[in-house]
Amino acid sequence: MENAVIIGSGPAGLTAAIYAARALLNPLVIAGTTPGGQLTETSDIENYPGFKEPVGGFDLMTTFQKQAERFGTRTVYDNVSSVRFTAGGPHEIILGGGDRIQTRAVIIATGASPMWLGIESEKRLMAKGVSACATCDGAFFRNVPVVVVGGGDTAMEEAIFLTRFASKVTVVHRRDQLRASKIMADRAMKNPKISFEWNSVVDEITGQNEVEGVILGNLKTGEKKKIDCRGFFAALGHKPNTEIFKGLIEMNDVGYIVLKQERSYTSVEGVFAAGDCADHVYRQAVTAAGMGCKAAIDAERWLESKQKN
Ligand code: FAD
Ligand code: NAP
Repeated sequence: MENAVIIGSGPAGLTAAIYAARALLNPLVIAGTTPGGQLTETSDIENYPGFKEPVGGFDLMTTFQKQAERFGTRTVYDNVSSVRFTAGGPHEIILGGGDRIQTRAVIIATGASPMWLGIESEKRLMAKGVSACATCDGAFFRNVPVVVVGGGDTAMEEAIFLTRFASKVTVVHRRDQLRASKIMADRAMKNPKISFEWNSVVDEITGQNEVEGVILGNLKTGEKKKIDCRGFFAALGHKPNTEIFKGLIEMNDVGYIVLKQERSYTSVEGVFAAGDCADHVYRQAVTAAGMGCKAAIDAERWLESKQKN
């Protein structure tokens, strides 16, 4: 029987592992299909505290992993395919490879995935000008034009943020009406650096080794148009990786895990959650790490209180 199984090995999962291991819980991390999490898919991280110079996403997460291992964290390189939660535990974790693990406490840190258009050029130019996070990558696009695709609040927020750096921001939206709240839409529309391409979809992002432009298709007229840009930001929303927990713990209407009492408790006793899977607001490495720390401390205190009873 495990004390604590941590599902996910991004900043939230590995920070939870560092704290749980130092509390002598001998935690087991299930790494999932992206060991190290979302940051391993990007290049320079400039806003993670403690690094004077930019640090590579993969390097940063390798450091997290080594730090967690130094205190005795064990890692299984598999996916969790399903779970059986019992209020108060023990819980059962079923791995993709078929193994079953019994554990007293679970920390869910499965993250959220940005939604992408799904076109070939987007994949090819990922981290070479294609991004889904203006807060993370905006500063790389000083005095050059960028394109943001999407018509929701995220797209408006990203576009407005990008005007701090970019020479021009073009928002491409597939309809002629924004989904964004009025206040955000007004703010974006009034910004002299932002222009809109309505009823338009991105057919292709051009460039071989870096983004050079986008080819748009107008859904009403069929007209094609090329726009020069060096950055391309997908702002189509995020999807929390919580499908396997559906119906088992409380989530909001778009699948983010609901936390209790502003801590890391979920609706099932002995199951805790941290990071982007439970946070649709901040979605940053440092906030995910902070939530991982909280979840490990909550799990440790909960396990201790169970032992006393
Ligand atoms: P994630 O990092 O998403 O990790 C989730 C983990 O869960 C992964 O290890 C995955 O394998 C695992 N998992 C998922 N499902 C399962 C399953 N069924 N079984 C087992 N494991 C599972 N933030 C910043 O602060 N600064 C930046 O510069 C920055 N740049 C970014 C650039 C890009 C391109 C992207 C996409 C994001 C960026 N972010 C940045 C955001 C940051 O990456 C996230 O906020 C952070 O990684 C969230 O951490 P997390 O641990 O909650 O989840
Ligand atoms: P969202 O509201 O779902 O908007 C996603 C946008 O992307 C929509 O405009 C959608 O177009 C477009 N889109 C989706 N898939 C597409 C595709 N394949 N091709 C082209 N366009 C596509 O997501 P969000 O903007 O991330 O917001 C999520 C939630 O967080 C909302 O409740 C929002 O209010 C909130 N939020 C709030 C703030 C804020 O208040 N500051 C900031 C960010 C997010 P359609 O409109 O045509 O469907």
